[in-house]
Amino acid sequence: KHRIERIASSIRVIPNFPKPGIMFQDITTLLLDPNAFGDTVELFVERYRDQRISVVAGVEARGFIFGPPIALAIGAKFVPLRKPKKLPGEVISEEYSLEYGTDKIEMHVGAVQPNDRAIVIDDLIATGGTLCAAVKLLERVGAVVVECACVIELPELNGREKLGGIPLFVLINRA
Ligand code: 5GP
Repeated sequence: KHRIERIASSIRVIPNFPKPGIMFQDITTLLLDPNAFGDTVELFVERYRDQRISVVAGVEARGFIFGPPIALAIGAKFVPLRKPKKLPGEVISEEYSLEYGTDKIEMHVGAVQPNDRAIVIDDLIATGGTLCAAVKLLERVGAVVVECACVIELPELNGREKLGGIPLFVLINRA
């Protein structure tokens, strides 16, 4: 409870970034507070440590900040899901739609096996398009996606409903 409050108050809101009308949730200020950052990682570790999770898949870029400490603490592999053309090996990719146009995320072939039990982590869920594409990548190679996890949810955008029945765990809701 009090951990959640400390985390919530450490996240800075920047109006009109990157575009007019957007209230950007800036997690870099959370990272400046070792207690808040530590509590964030700890809350996810407490939730996932006894669930036989073998993969923590992190979405570029901010899933690369929260995912690795969680993966190490629970003894799981960390798998980066990256923007196009960043991963050097053979990849599979999933396209998803943005407000204008489309984007893509990629995963290395061979990083995840059919017997893996995965969670997908990112800093924030808005429309849910990014996490939905991430879930599809993992399911295409036969992994079980146990849950998606985010620090922040923007519930008004109903991103949760795009996850096709995969549970979503979040620490903070921001209207
Ligand atoms: P979605 O695909 O759910 O619409 O958007 C989520 C993605 O956009 C995440 O990868 C997230 O990092 C990024 N994103 C969108 N809005 C914000 C924001 O206000 N703050 C941060 N930190 N990330 C955002």
